[in-house]
Amino acid sequence: MASLPPRFAQPAEAGRVVLTFDDGPDARWTPRILDILAHAQVHATFFVVGRYALEQAALVRRVADNGHELGNHTWSHRHPWTLLASSARREVRDGAAAIADLIGRAPKFFRPPHGRLRSCMIEEAERGGQTLVLWDRSAVDWGPLGCARGIARRLGAAQAADIVLMHDGGRGINRPEELVKVLPEFLSNLGRRGLVPSRLAE
Ligand SMILES: [Zn+2]
Repeated sequence: MASLPPRFAQPAEAGRVVLTFDDGPDARWTPRILDILAHAQVHATFFVVGRYALEQAALVRRVADNGHELGNHTWSHRHPWTLLASSARREVRDGAAAIADLIGRAPKFFRPPHGRLRSCMIEEAERGGQTLVLWDRSAVDWGPLGCARGIARRLGAAQAADIVLMHDGGRGINRPEELVKVLPEFLSNLGRRGLVPSRLAE
């Protein structure tokens, strides 16, 4: 695969740190994270999985009603490199359609599962009006490294204009239970450093 630039979306405005949460919605963890964001009075972008979004319609609408952005993270989060091109395109289309059905507007951003790029998926997303977004800094809030202390250290290194990857979806090896322990302090710390947590700019 040809090497592609790590991020196609415009960088965040100076002084901003973009918060993104992937793999939800999650009935247990998404509300917890929404509460933390509301308390801190900040907005984020949630890259939701279409099939889970349809199962949690009220929660998806709450995310949107709270002023957060909803991004397309495909229909079922299958690994992009395992799919036939026709299936890969359908994953993108169906993920976007689920969001549009729930909140009445199409998503503006697309992030492939695992950040794995497929040109056919990028093309399909762009055709649907979505911009590809990866990330600059991962919390690694999953797997054996996903303990609160490690997550806090990685988040604490966030710099102006970073797009930060976190997970509200608790399926598989994700560990939102560790992320929520340190998320409030991360947000406070950004504020003390003069950085503004924000969702993706349109
Ligand atoms: Zn994901």
